[in-house]
Amino acid sequence: MKLILLGPPGAGKGTQAAQLVERFSIPQVSTGDMLRAAVREQTPMGLKAKEFMDKGALVTDEVVIGIVRERLQQPDCESGFILDGFPRTVPQADALAETLSVLGKDLDAVISLHVETDALVERLVGRRSCRGCGRGFHISFDPPAKEGVCDSCGGELFQRDDDKEETIRKRMEVYHQQTVPLENYYRQAGLLKAVDGMAPIAEVQQQVLGILQAL
Ligand code: AMP
Repeated sequence: MKLILLGPPGAGKGTQAAQLVERFSIPQVSTGDMLRAAVREQTPMGLKAKEFMDKGALVTDEVVIGIVRERLQQPDCESGFILDGFPRTVPQADALAETLSVLGKDLDAVISLHVETDALVERLVGRRSCRGCGRGFHISFDPPAKEGVCDSCGGELFQRDDDKEETIRKRMEVYHQQTVPLENYYRQAGLLKAVDGMAPIAEVQQQVLGILQAL
């Protein structure tokens, strides 16, 4: 199964990807997670990427294409992968097509999660992640049993720097300008499958599984 999850920040790509990882035993390839790891490790690439991420802008195509190209060649991607947050621009989509063609692989589907902008802002502002295991929570929709503490590992919950309201607005703008054209790109390739991302998490997952079963 080789999938792309497409959708604006807060659409639920990470949440859906985590469930698909369990079900199909294939890795989630999240460029956002990989970039945040590089920022934490303070690699030269991470330090450069942070400047863009803090502003809500996209990191350069060259950098993310390089990361994904390397990641898709790892043995655990052999039987499939779920791309989450990549591609985000047409040049990234072109580079992905080229990489997959070199690897002799084809995408199975591009699942596009549709969510209204107001709901996205509400989701992102309340989003919290665990420093220990990375599990996601939401202060209103999926709160932890104890405020600020992860139910799974007891780790500390934190808010991403770019989930502050001013940065969120910028990320939405960037999404509309640079990423929305990919819907047409993949529609023309016959790969685009739309899902109503406003539905509850379990229902969205059912819609996604229905699409995958029908492939
Ligand atoms: P995400 O966790 O997917 O929302 O990504 C967080 C931030 O990482 C984005 O706002 C961008 O600054 C950067 N980023 C993640 N994926 C990409 C990508 N495919 N292209 C460019 N920048 C990216």
